[in-house]
Amino acid sequence: MFEFVIDATSDCARAGTLTLPHGTVETPAFMPVGTQGTVRALSPADLKAAGAHIVLANTYHLHVRPGETVVAKLGGLHRFMAWDRPLLTDSGGFQVFSLEGFRKVDEAGVEFQSHIDGARRTITPERAVEIQWALGADVAMAFDHVVPGGVDGATARDAMERTLRWLERCVKRHAELKDVQRSVVASCDQTLWPILQGGAHLDLRTESLQRTLGLSDWTGIAIGGLSVGESKGVMYDVLETLEPRLPRAMPRYLMGVGFPADLVAAVERGVDLFDCVAPTRNGRNGSAFTPDGPVNIRNAEHREETRPLDETCDCETCTTFSRGYLRHLFAAEELLGLRLLSLHNVRFLIRLAADMRAAVRAGDFSRWAADWRRRYT
Ligand SMILES: [Zn+2]
Repeated sequence: MFEFVIDATSDCARAGTLTLPHGTVETPAFMPVGTQGTVRALSPADLKAAGAHIVLANTYHLHVRPGETVVAKLGGLHRFMAWDRPLLTDSGGFQVFSLEGFRKVDEAGVEFQSHIDGARRTITPERAVEIQWALGADVAMAFDHVVPGGVDGATARDAMERTLRWLERCVKRHAELKDVQRSVVASCDQTLWPILQGGAHLDLRTESLQRTLGLSDWTGIAIGGLSVGESKGVMYDVLETLEPRLPRAMPRYLMGVGFPADLVAAVERGVDLFDCVAPTRNGRNGSAFTPDGPVNIRNAEHREETRPLDETCDCETCTTFSRGYLRHLFAAEELLGLRLLSLHNVRFLIRLAADMRAAVRAGDFSRWAADWRRRYT
């Protein structure tokens, strides 16, 4: 049920096939983010048209509203959001540590104030696993202690050690839930992935990886705590340190990344999976990804422009509408503009991942990446 096969490699870049209960995902792959059980402004049909094979949903947001019990009563997250392909749920660790309601962290878990009703709540590693089990995604993430980029070694170690202790508790609770299910139905349909921490400290990152690998037979592994305010160089250093030490036949998920150039740089360093709100958030602000770099559709230069947003793109936005019309939609604050730019940006990253896969399979990823970079920047 949970299988990852490497189809081809080109230096460190990999093309693989990840099999999950709700379908297969060809990697490298970009996962659109459906924070509240919806990828903002896009329907499941839009996502399929954009070529999405896996979507990420957010445990914290679904827990505070409408609550995992409601989602479970409505048939689980797949049925709730009418998405029949693979789903991954983030554990909520990143949200409880980064949102305004954050209160305190201790060994038990994290206390926070709901951004919906102000109520005080606590998420423990066990609760994070139980919530994700109720939501029923194909892949659940372990509950981790996230620290900002650039923290000192002692702070990063403290968070890494806690993440490892919490990971043991997540593994235990997930196994218990599986055992209960196994006694009722034959198959178990969710896997749990760990999240590596250690900040910008390469020795901690290596230690985090080695100790995490010793805790279970994982079906995938995530690299967390990057894209949280550190420089690009730090991200590259961490990826280059981890790459030769990561098990080859395991999908590697770089959390919260990213922008087009970040995807290319990370695939070059052996990463397989990505998620980021950038395509939809930027799209709603009128900023579009194109092979020649970002375009702000609000700019006056597009007023009488008949060309599409991206001449190389096959999405509904680019095959139907002119830049001039898209600019008008944003000037007039029409909702269609938000949908069309979000759709294009998601399609752009999914196509970028597919192009990288093809370059890996052709065995010349480095040359492809150099050509891509020359045009994009
Ligand atoms: Zn397009």
